[in-house]
Amino acid sequence: MSQVDFPAPNAPEVSVIIPVYNEEDGLAALFSHLYPALDALGTSYEVIFINDGSRDKSAALLAQQFHVRSDTTRVILLNGNYGQHMAILAGFEQSRGDIVVTLDADLQNPPEEIGKLVAKMREGYDYVGTIRQQRQDSLWRKKASRAMNRLRERITKIRMTDQGCMLRAYSRHIIDTINRCGEINTFIPALAYTFAQNPIEVDVAHEERFAGESKYSLYSLIRLNFDLVTGFSVVPLQWLSFIGVILSVGSAALFLLLLIRRFMFGAEVQGVFTLFAITFFMLGVIIFALGLLGEYTGRIYQQVRARPRYLVQTILEQRDGLPTASQPRQEAVQQIAVVTREDEGR
Ligand code: UDP
Ligand code: MG
Repeated sequence: MSQVDFPAPNAPEVSVIIPVYNEEDGLAALFSHLYPALDALGTSYEVIFINDGSRDKSAALLAQQFHVRSDTTRVILLNGNYGQHMAILAGFEQSRGDIVVTLDADLQNPPEEIGKLVAKMREGYDYVGTIRQQRQDSLWRKKASRAMNRLRERITKIRMTDQGCMLRAYSRHIIDTINRCGEINTFIPALAYTFAQNPIEVDVAHEERFAGESKYSLYSLIRLNFDLVTGFSVVPLQWLSFIGVILSVGSAALFLLLLIRRFMFGAEVQGVFTLFAITFFMLGVIIFALGLLGEYTGRIYQQVRARPRYLVQTILEQRDGLPTASQPRQEAVQQIAVVTREDEGR
């Protein structure tokens, strides 16, 4: 029996999901662009900010903004840093809109483009992907991202021109399906794509980060790409088997060759270093293979352990027309106060 999802009562048409991690310098500018752009849509909307365990004033700023626009704003405070994609998933679980748009907090995706995505969704598409025009990131990131795009095209059935841009729109149906998945360490644009029936892509502008710096180190970018590769395809494992077969055939041939030469020319000692080189190369392949296997096993381990993916400390939202902080309220107020005090002391 297929599960039927009923719209939440008083559900707005559009939900905008914004993960926030140490973005205190850019939040004011974000608010001043975002709300006018959404008001201009002329439809009902909600903005859901997820504070992903920021250690700066972000949580306090979000709480302030909640009190300014509590009619359309909800704030989810997570109790730690779980990463951009987990934060967005926390936002998805709370979202009620028919059309769910994800957006970065750093103004790299101009909020003014949301209208374009909403218009496409209204045409009947259930997934609006985006292609960044003149992407404003460092050269090495653009190059690395292009290489990952190509690898993903080869090993998965996911077809996206530009997988990295988070300004995207999804239908309620896709979001409900994602909410049922319980995935850990996932890559949301790819996960959503696997459930899309009628996807389309549009061009969007891309700008430099308004303030602060990228929250992704080289290491976390590599981790994210491993999530993309091992979370959506077993083709790398199949490639490993092929490499194993080819190497075995190759070494058998080498053994035969050496055997024949032994009978023809007697004992030979040349080529010892070549042999070293080949051995070290093989060792490298074996360790890589083990690591890759470990990536898959690690995912299985995390998934079967089934711990909560993130902990929501507090949700600031309007209930019965009144701004409220859901349980544990006292803690929430304290936490915001602590964050503010710490920063005042700096
Ligand atoms: N972000 C987050 N948790 C993290 C890292 C990032 O919520 O652990 C948020 C961040 O505040 C921003 C978005 O994810 O809104 C994208 O992050 P960033 O701009 O650093 O990524 P980039 O644009 O460099 O890919
Ligand atoms: Mg950014």
